[in-house]
Amino acid sequence: YKVPKAVNEAVKSYASGTQERKDLLDTYKKMYNEQVDIPFYIGGKEYRTGKTIDIHPPHDHKHTVGKYHTAEKEHLELAITEAIKARKKWAATSWEHRAAIFLKAAELLAGPFRNKMNAATMIAQSKNVMQAEIDAACELIDFFRFNVEFMTEIYNNQPQSSPGIWNRMEYRPLEGFVYAITPFNFTSIAGNLPAAPALMGNVVIWKPARSQVYSANVIMEIFKAAGLPDGVINMVTGNSSMITDVILNNAEFSGVHFTGSTPVFNSFWETIGKNMNNYKSYPRIVGETGGKDFIWAHPSANAQEIATAISRGAFEYQGQKCSAASRAYLPKSLWGAIKKAVLKDVNSFKMGSPEDTSNFINAVIDDRAFTKLSGYIDQAKKDADAEIIVGGGYDDSVGYFIEPTIIVTTNPQYKTMCTELFGPIITIFIYEDDQWEEILDVLDNTSEYALTGAIFSGDRYVIDIATDKLENAAGNFYINDKPTGAVVGQQPFGGARGSGTNDKAGSVWNLLRWVSNRTIKETF
Ligand code: GLU
Repeated sequence: YKVPKAVNEAVKSYASGTQERKDLLDTYKKMYNEQVDIPFYIGGKEYRTGKTIDIHPPHDHKHTVGKYHTAEKEHLELAITEAIKARKKWAATSWEHRAAIFLKAAELLAGPFRNKMNAATMIAQSKNVMQAEIDAACELIDFFRFNVEFMTEIYNNQPQSSPGIWNRMEYRPLEGFVYAITPFNFTSIAGNLPAAPALMGNVVIWKPARSQVYSANVIMEIFKAAGLPDGVINMVTGNSSMITDVILNNAEFSGVHFTGSTPVFNSFWETIGKNMNNYKSYPRIVGETGGKDFIWAHPSANAQEIATAISRGAFEYQGQKCSAASRAYLPKSLWGAIKKAVLKDVNSFKMGSPEDTSNFINAVIDDRAFTKLSGYIDQAKKDADAEIIVGGGYDDSVGYFIEPTIIVTTNPQYKTMCTELFGPIITIFIYEDDQWEEILDVLDNTSEYALTGAIFSGDRYVIDIATDKLENAAGNFYINDKPTGAVVGQQPFGGARGSGTNDKAGSVWNLLRWVSNRTIKETF
């Protein structure tokens, strides 16, 4: 089983004055002034019910870029029937053919679809050019390429045989269909969650997040252009609880590939548990959920590196990454230098529409996020144990804008030290230098999550102690680097505890969840 060696897609810079920047922004403007009418897709057919939801850019919420149609219960039943119908042929399709479709999807995205995909992500999810490029282009291309290679690694893993006996392992797709449910914050995750099970021979029903349907539609165009057969990935849109309810109550349900909130994922486990006797097999439950990602620094660390990790790790994409740094534990002796450097950085950030590429900060995703985040800011302004040292402003008159905000607290259990906010707010606790070791325990016990975290130290002995003490605190653990920006094939991504099942997106371990192996012993 051999395929082209996967390589990470090079990140384009879209530097000022270049043709590539001009082309991208031309695409953006053109799409911004169009009204797209997005159907849902079942068995390769487009469905338009007339029950639609308008799509507004978060940075310009009075503007409309189109609408999408929503499915009813009967469409869900149909999607399941069509998926199961497509399964027979797809599961029997050769692995080379399946691999070729996703390798083709990677090249279509790297080439002719790149601008459209990036522009869609900038418009509907309010990402700046760079954040769109590393997500909607590079990371999704990488998922497609690397998963093909990981698939062959799996297939090559075969048991021992002996003369007269041939033992072999068949990596069969699951019996039934897989449900992919994806978040707004990464277009790459939206593409990977249905694509990974499909690559392994499964059929999928995919429900993208409301605010991501606009770019999800472009992903469907890519799948079609790459030659993915009808019915293998069916994209449905509409009321989440209705969709989930129909799906989890169906006997053919064989697994869920999820990224989203912890409470929603927990409710899946409960519903699946209640339905256990209805299913043919035990469903695979794979999910990445919340985070309360940390930065911890020892007095031996470099202040400038920590400042950069804070300003990038907390504020890239308005802090709306599951991996975003949202609490920090810093030693008193370094705080002055860190504060100076971080304020310089944050004060240089411009905020506004992604169309102006000098804006590092764009809008948060919707009015719900805006209301929640501005509420935490208002509370911090009142609380005696919290002080806002930069940011704290917000304005939703044009778009849902929240300034990058740093709260310094004297209470390591302060609300925003413990609760996931999912926005451009980081809370910092300054500790006495000689408490560096005990503060690791505080850090470990403050949050139910364990997704990402970063430690900073120039002392090898300290690095060892912190790595050891925090062994369960983060599925992606960074030493002297920010906790965001995992690269496919380099830092397989996922966390445990309240952060998910830790099946590492874009990895052999993830793909193994989408197969049900048959061991064959043949004697001669
Ligand atoms: N993989 C992304 C990162 O490392 C985060 C993914 C997420 O937000 O779910 O920054």
